[in-house]
Amino acid sequence: MEDRTKEDIINLKFMKELLVSLSQKNRYNRFLKNKVELKCKCGHIETLTYYDFLAGGEFNLGQPFSVVSPFITESIYDETITATPINLIKKCPECGEDILAIFPISVENLVPLLQVRQPDPQMYG
Ligand SMILES: [Zn+2]
Repeated sequence: MEDRTKEDIINLKFMKELLVSLSQKNRYNRFLKNKVELKCKCGHIETLTYYDFLAGGEFNLGQPFSVVSPFITESIYDETITATPINLIKKCPECGEDILAIFPISVENLVPLLQVRQPDPQMYG
């Protein structure tokens, strides 16, 4: 199950490109204004918006895994959904080490958020 087929790798590459382009198109998406704090081993703290990360492509997609859906109803028994984790990577400007963090939501949950059309068109002007 740990084997990554060539197809999986192409898929992940495609998904990453999709996330980058969706993010770039959604510059004013409120969700992308959330901030994430990265703490390096050397003590340096870097605060970036989700937009900075996603639009800049400073992330990798992890191995998809199955999780039991949190929305189980009595009629659906043991539903599992796939979740692909997003790993953030940023080089520390102080010591040059990579700072790693896991994005709080998976690709599967992020894409619909970015595909929502913004209600405020004049913001794009
Ligand atoms: Zn550092």
